Amino acid sequence: MSFTNLVKQPKEVITQFMNSFDIVLTDCDGVLWLAEEPIEGSAEVINTLKELGKRVFFVTNNSCKIRDDFVKKAKKMNFKCEKDDIISTAYLAAKYLKSKGFQKKVYVVGAKALSQELELVGIKSIGVGPDAVQTSFKNTLEEFKADPDIGAVIVGDDEHFSYVKMFKAATYLSNPDVLFVGTNSDEQDPNRYDYIVPGTGTIIIAIKTAAQREPFIVGKPEAYIADFIKNEYGMDPKRTLMIGDRCNTDILLGTRCGFQTMLVLSGITTFKEATQRKQSKKQEEKDLVPDVYLEKLGDLLAYMN
Ligand code: PLP
Ligand code: CA
Repeated sequence: MSFTNLVKQPKEVITQFMNSFDIVLTDCDGVLWLAEEPIEGSAEVINTLKELGKRVFFVTNNSCKIRDDFVKKAKKMNFKCEKDDIISTAYLAAKYLKSKGFQKKVYVVGAKALSQELELVGIKSIGVGPDAVQTSFKNTLEEFKADPDIGAVIVGDDEHFSYVKMFKAATYLSNPDVLFVGTNSDEQDPNRYDYIVPGTGTIIIAIKTAAQREPFIVGKPEAYIADFIKNEYGMDPKRTLMIGDRCNTDILLGTRCGFQTMLVLSGITTFKEATQRKQSKKQEEKDLVPDVYLEKLGDLLAYMN
């Protein structure tokens, strides 16, 4: 199937599709909820998938919460959810460094959740919170003392991002032994005001331009997130379904990893955008086309028994 409206198919096609996967990777914002508002029917569908014996992972690029907070949020909205179901980018960044046997300290450009996830794997960090020019940048240059213990820079979403943080991150990265990790490259973050809220991708581009280095990105659409799940829990890509609302992160990850892909139109990517991609001849556009789509995840409920 290619960009097929699943619920418009004959019942047997839908049943066959539902039986064709054992593992579900679901994006969070735009599929399960929009900020603090649950999306109607999503909890029922996820809980039913679990009851049917499917292994469901909540896969989010949001680096501003620790896993326990995602569990609390999901449970409040009636999703059946355990800590091991949550694959979030602050957690992944910490696990990535841990897997490399990292022993030093991290300079974090990001939210408190990043330092908390690092702490949980026994890695110390500095940098979280406001860090602005006090009097003049000249003073900052004179007063800055690079911490010799820093062995990595991790960049996530940071509402306190500043010129000083960019300067410090790039300076640490001038040492080629210092690792450079990014949580995700989303250009913008969703918000309910129709404003443009710059996402982690914007911050990473600023830092990588200054540092003249490429980061290792742990979030969607990079394959690390799928490799991590495969190594920790095992998975057969052909029997894995990726559900997402954003083609250039969720659907692209699915295509790259050989998963089946489902787009829901309750979040970022619009029907118009997806249709244009379906008609494109370019392979990079075709990689963003989902196998099936739905208006919202809850539409599946009527077909699950
Ligand atoms: N990053 C931030 C800071 C966010 O707030 C969000 C959505 O809430 C995202 C990334 C995207 O998250 P997801 O991958 O669940 O859509
Ligand atoms: Ca999303």
